[in-house]
Amino acid sequence: MENKISELMFLTSSEESKKNYSELINRTVKAIVDSFVDKKAFAGLTPYDLKKAIHVEQVLPEQGVGMDKLFSLLQEKVLPNMLRTSSTDYMAHLHTLALCESIAAELIIATYNQSMDSWDQSPAATEIEVEVVKCLCKLYGYDETSGGCFTSGGSQSNQTGLLLARDWYCNTKLNHDVKKKGLPANYSKFRFYTSEISHFSMEKSSHLMGLGYDAVVKVPVDKNQKMDIEVLKSLIEKDVQDGNLPVCVVATIGTTDYGSIDDVAKISKLCKEYGMYLHADAAYGSAVIMSDKYNNRIGNLALCDSITVDFHKMFLQPISCSAILVKDDSLFEALTLHADYLNREEDEEDGYTNLVGKSLQTTRRFDALKVWMSFLLRGKEGYSSIINTCIENAKYFYDRVLSDSSFETIVEPEISSVVFRLSASDEINKLVRRKLIHQDGIVIGQTVFENKVYLKFTLLNPLVTHQKLDELIEEIKFLSKQ
Ligand SMILES: *Cc1c(COP(=O)(O)O)cnc(C)c1O
Repeated sequence: MENKISELMFLTSSEESKKNYSELINRTVKAIVDSFVDKKAFAGLTPYDLKKAIHVEQVLPEQGVGMDKLFSLLQEKVLPNMLRTSSTDYMAHLHTLALCESIAAELIIATYNQSMDSWDQSPAATEIEVEVVKCLCKLYGYDETSGGCFTSGGSQSNQTGLLLARDWYCNTKLNHDVKKKGLPANYSKFRFYTSEISHFSMEKSSHLMGLGYDAVVKVPVDKNQKMDIEVLKSLIEKDVQDGNLPVCVVATIGTTDYGSIDDVAKISKLCKEYGMYLHADAAYGSAVIMSDKYNNRIGNLALCDSITVDFHKMFLQPISCSAILVKDDSLFEALTLHADYLNREEDEEDGYTNLVGKSLQTTRRFDALKVWMSFLLRGKEGYSSIINTCIENAKYFYDRVLSDSSFETIVEPEISSVVFRLSASDEINKLVRRKLIHQDGIVIGQTVFENKVYLKFTLLNPLVTHQKLDELIEEIKFLSKQ
C-alpha cells in the first residue's frame, strides 16, 4: 500500500492525509516514549553485539516491508540501543540532551522543509533567522552594522570565521582579491594563532583554505589552561621579524576538554596593535552569556571580529544548530556569489533576502526556529537557571574530587567540565571507563593530559544532582578496586 502514489505519502490539505500524518507521528512518539525503559544512558552492548543486534537482512529490499514491520524493526533493533542523552548517566562529551520545545521545532522544520538559501524557498523562515541573528548580535554586544548566519556546527562556524579573516586580511592589507584571484604569492607566510588546546577545526580550516596546518601557530597555555598572552605576543613579534604575516588570533571561549576561557580583552589589544583579526571560538562557552551570575566569565566578546556560537552544546538544542556572528556584516561579501537561478541581484535590491550569500552551504536547514522557540519560551531567566545549575554542579564535583585522595585533578572549572583521574595507573582509569559503559550503562569522557590518561565529566545536564555526583564518585572508586 505504501507504494501506491497517493496523498498519504505526504502531508497535504486533504483530511485523509492529515489523519494519516497525525497517526504516524503519534505512533512515532509512542515508540520513542516506550523506549525510555530505565534511567541508563546506554543498554551497554559491546560493539560486536551491537552490530548483530541492529542487523537486518536487507536494508533495501526489493519490495518495502510495510509500516507495521518497519516499526517492529525500529522498536526491536534501533530504539532500545540508542544512547539516551537525557540520562544523568551521560556526560562524555559536549553533546547534550535536547529541550522538548526544540524537539517540537524539529518536527516543524522537517514537515515544512524550508531551505534557507533563497527567500522564495523560505519566506517566513528567512525573516525569522534574520530576527534571531539580530537578537544574538545584540546579546553579545554587537551593533546594527553586524550580522550572522546559522551553520551546521562549530566547525563550520570556525571555518567561516577564518575564511572571513583571510579575505579581510588580503583585501585590506595586501590589496589582493583572494575571492577572484586565489591565494597571493606569499600565502605561505600567513599565520593564525590559537592555543595548543584549541579545537582541531582550526587546522582543518587552514588546510581547506589552502594554507595547511603549518599556518596555525599553537600558543602554549598557562596552568589554568588559558592561552599564555606573553608567549602569544613574543610569537607574533618573532613572526613579524621573520617576515611572516600575522593574520588572525582565535581565542577559545571554553576549551573542549576543560572549558577554560582565553582572555579576549588582552588578546584584542594585541590584535589592534598588530592589525590582526580576532575570532572567538565560543562553541562551548557562548551559552554562559545567559547566566545572571557567571556571564562575565566569558569576557566581552563584542571585542572580537566574529564569534562562533554553538546551540547544540550548552544551549541544549538538537543537532545541528550553530551560528557565526560577524561584527562587520559587509565581510560576508567574501561568500556572496550570484546565480541566475537562485539569488538574483535584482531580487535583493527589492528587499528579498537570500541568505545563501552568507553561508558555505547552499541548501540549509531552518535551525533558527529552534532557538526562536526556546528563547521565547524560556526567556533569559529560564536559560540562566539551566546554565547556573551546570556551572555549580561542576564546581561541586571538582571540590569533591579535590578533597578525596583517591583522585587527582588539573584545573578548577570555569564552565561545566571537570577533568580528573583516579590516582592509579592509566590502565585502571581506562578500564573503569569501559566498565562504566558496559556494566552500568554510564558514559563518561576520557582524555590525556601530560601523557597521562584522565577521565572527564561534561556536566551539561541540569537534571544532575549533587547526590548523583556523590554516587558516581563511589561507583568509580568501587570499579577501580574490582
Ligand atoms: C565542539 C567544539 C567545536 C566544534 O563544533 P561542532 O559543532 O562539533 O562542529 C569547535 N570548537 C570548540 C571549542 C568546541 O568545543
